[in-house]
Amino acid sequence: MLNMVIFGPPGAGKGTQSEKLIERYGFVHISTGDLFRWHTKNDTPLGKRVKEIMNSGALVPDDITIAMLKEELDKNPLAKGFLFDGFPRTVAQAEALDHFMQSRGTAIHRVVALDVTEDEVRTRIAKRKAIENRADDEEEKLNKRITEYFSKTLHVLPFYKTDGRLTNIQGIGSIDSIFESICAVVGTT
Ligand code: ADP
Repeated sequence: MLNMVIFGPPGAGKGTQSEKLIERYGFVHISTGDLFRWHTKNDTPLGKRVKEIMNSGALVPDDITIAMLKEELDKNPLAKGFLFDGFPRTVAQAEALDHFMQSRGTAIHRVVALDVTEDEVRTRIAKRKAIENRADDEEEKLNKRITEYFSKTLHVLPFYKTDGRLTNIQGIGSIDSIFESICAVVGTT
């Protein structure tokens, strides 16, 4: 079993594709966005620390995020394959992830980046807002999240590109055709 990262701007379809990947391959799914939302919803000490940051659309500092990720990995000592969604978002997080995988005797084998333009992302989120009310989809916060992606997170890609782990996939098209493109990457050895 392999470990993979799914990568893309807010609204790229990471959540949708992750669900399908879990169903097909049985990955243990680790979404740092979902984990942070769980902590804020349940008002845990960590939730209290990150609530304002998240609501502003900014990235949570690396030390907090990496510690939470490590805890989550430690909860799954026997997991054969992880799907990371929303992590890593900075080069420091990518380095920490490689380190954690190495210490488990494994690695991050594949990184799939869903390529979606900023215009498409904004259109999709506007539609999503109409059905699902996510606090961080409000205009100002959304702008901040998109800026954080293009100013920080995008810089993680060269980290994976240099050693051949990265595959870019066109994130515009039908859900199923995008899914099959991702599966072709997961299936290659
Ligand atoms: P999006 O839909 O914008 O991709 P997520 O649902 O993955 O967002 O995450 C929501 C929020 O949680 C982010 O805006 C950020 O504040 C925080 N967050 C999630 N993952 C990370 C991470 N790896 N590093 C820092 N902050 C994170």
